[in-house]
Amino acid sequence: ASKEQGKNKYTLCTTILKEDILTKMKLTNCLYRALERNELILLYQPQISLKTNKIIGVEALIRWHHPEFGTISPATFIPLAEQHAGLIGPIGDWALLTACQQSMAWKAVGIPPLRMAVNLSGEQFRNNNLVSTMKRIIVETGIKPEILELEITESVALKGNFNMNQVMNDLKSLGVTIAIDDFGVEYSSLNRLKTLPIDRIKMDAEFVRGLAKSTKDEAIAKIIIQLAKSLDIHVIAEGVENKLQLDFLNKQRCDEVQGFYFYKPLPPEELESILLEPAASKILTLGPYPIWE
Ligand code: C2E
Ligand code: MG
Ligand code: MG
Ligand code: MG
Repeated sequence: ASKEQGKNKYTLCTTILKEDILTKMKLTNCLYRALERNELILLYQPQISLKTNKIIGVEALIRWHHPEFGTISPATFIPLAEQHAGLIGPIGDWALLTACQQSMAWKAVGIPPLRMAVNLSGEQFRNNNLVSTMKRIIVETGIKPEILELEITESVALKGNFNMNQVMNDLKSLGVTIAIDDFGVEYSSLNRLKTLPIDRIKMDAEFVRGLAKSTKDEAIAKIIIQLAKSLDIHVIAEGVENKLQLDFLNKQRCDEVQGFYFYKPLPPEELESILLEPAASKILTLGPYPIWE
């Protein structure tokens, strides 16, 4: 019986493994066509300033609506795309262009300027074209670079053994801002924080989840906020889901928050109607420059 059981276990495992590989291959193939077939979309999640309690920006978050598999999370398909240079490049460019076009579309309907944050993959950094692509998209769409923010995960930004400083400085010279995503979960060199041109750090949701529950997470959250303040970098907390977490972050003078407690990532039409509602009361105009100019 035990032999039989072992055999079944083995068969089950290989079946799952095979299915997994097949699914991956199938997904990868489909992903190549997803762009042409308009199966990719961006949702936008508001970011709120704790100084004013108003929306100060949005983060663009990609989704893949596959006709057979349904909606696929970026956590599943971005890592797959990153394994194929021919995939992550076009997808990354598409996300950048689409986010900038959306920003200009909101401008056209009279919405005040909001920061538009776009996630970049490490693979996009390793590609020499990132800076020129960024420049082309800024010129093509007419977006003010000051409202464009590029989110780079901590693991890519602070551990990179390639020429991260140079690429970041080149990007910054275009006028965009840079945020370090998922801050605190990787073993990265804090020393690099002071050498890179970083405007904002995004405290990882993992610590936010533990606020008002775990004194250890609270201690880490406090340290991250203090660190950011001492280095003159802005700090935003990700994944805020309840009032207790918000109260803690307010008390610690965290600059901004983002999470389901406020808004989920929303389709552009839905967010647009929220932004247009009592226009002046929900939105905080970004920066010292005049509205959209
Ligand atoms: P991220 O950039 O750290 O984005 C935050 C994730 O947390 C998003 O997941 C968002 O939907 C989710 N989130 C926001 N608020 C809450 C909350 O209160 N509770 C919980 N449980 N989750 C919350 P999403 O949209 O599934 O994206 C996952 C990751 O995929 C992103 O993490 C980012 O690393 C990557 N990603 C998304 N869009 C793009 C893209 O256009 N390009 C690239 N390269 N990566 C992307
Ligand atoms: Mg992000
Ligand atoms: Mg994050
Ligand atoms: Mg993340």
